[in-house]
Amino acid sequence: MSSEDKYKLAVKKSELDRVVDSLVKEGLEEIKAGFAGYITIRYKELEKILKNSGVYLAEQSIIDALVKEGIVTVETEGRIVVCPKCKNPSIVVMYTCPSCNSVDIEPTLVMSHVVCGYTGLLVDFKKNDELVCPNCKRRLESEEDYTILGRIFYCHSCKRRFANLSVKFKCIICGEDFGPFDALMKKFYRFKVNLDKVGEYIIRRAKEIVVTEFSKEGFNVAEGGSIRGQSGISHKFDYTATLNEITIGIRFMGFGGKYEAIEAEMAGIYGLSIDLADSEVVIVTPMEISSVETESFGNVHIIVFSSLEDFSRRIRETASLILSKYRKLREADVKEGA
Ligand SMILES: [Zn+2]
Ligand SMILES: [Zn+2]
Ligand SMILES: [Zn+2]
Repeated sequence: MSSEDKYKLAVKKSELDRVVDSLVKEGLEEIKAGFAGYITIRYKELEKILKNSGVYLAEQSIIDALVKEGIVTVETEGRIVVCPKCKNPSIVVMYTCPSCNSVDIEPTLVMSHVVCGYTGLLVDFKKNDELVCPNCKRRLESEEDYTILGRIFYCHSCKRRFANLSVKFKCIICGEDFGPFDALMKKFYRFKVNLDKVGEYIIRRAKEIVVTEFSKEGFNVAEGGSIRGQSGISHKFDYTATLNEITIGIRFMGFGGKYEAIEAEMAGIYGLSIDLADSEVVIVTPMEISSVETESFGNVHIIVFSSLEDFSRRIRETASLILSKYRKLREADVKEGA
């Protein structure tokens, strides 16, 4: 059964009547192709990231910021055609005949009939649903009856065949028709994330957070510095924060280091706690160390880093915890003195 037969069966006369009635009623003189949908360049992972982080800024500004930090590098992935009139990328592409400019073009095969040697296009061989040699009129039963010599484009309007075609575009949004040389090209990108830079950024920001949050609570925060323990040993810290009688040593431990190294360093914290009994120690570590208690104890405050947002909160909590601890100590002193 050919496709024409199917068509005849599918549409009843009464149905076709109603279609014609409708055409007349609507006053239609022609029916044009319409295009549905809206194509645009989207970066879904980025969208997801922004959504999850609750950031409602333009993607471009986020990317610019990430690029500035070296966290993201931008590579041009390619360029797409956008409408020269309305700049939209919602474009329909049509092949055009280089000879007559028709868009009634399709790629077809160049094939040869093995028995008689006739060479022609697949469209010439097609007869209803069968392949029949236009030369010797024999039916081609299987793939062994013909050889495929190549592919070519065929224009149904002027019947010409050609190897290279032209294209034209139609904008779905504004309807503009334009050719390849009139098209605007819009770049789309691939964003590469530099993990080393991510790590560097996190450390740098974490340190800034330490300075900012302790300063907010009135502490004088200095980079580096050491606190002398009861043993006489000076213990070095990444930051020292002081306020009245309170001295805090803040140490970033094990960032970029190996698990074993962190484990060994963490094991030394108990000694540090005793030697610096009159001070507070804040340890920031990038991971849980199973063999070492990572809960805070006494004058040691351990913050296992999970995210910058969480870290800010933990630092604020730690600062106010230390402040309230000393407030209580002072109150106790006052009571004793009274
Ligand atoms: Zn347009
Ligand atoms: Zn043509
Ligand atoms: Zn033949």
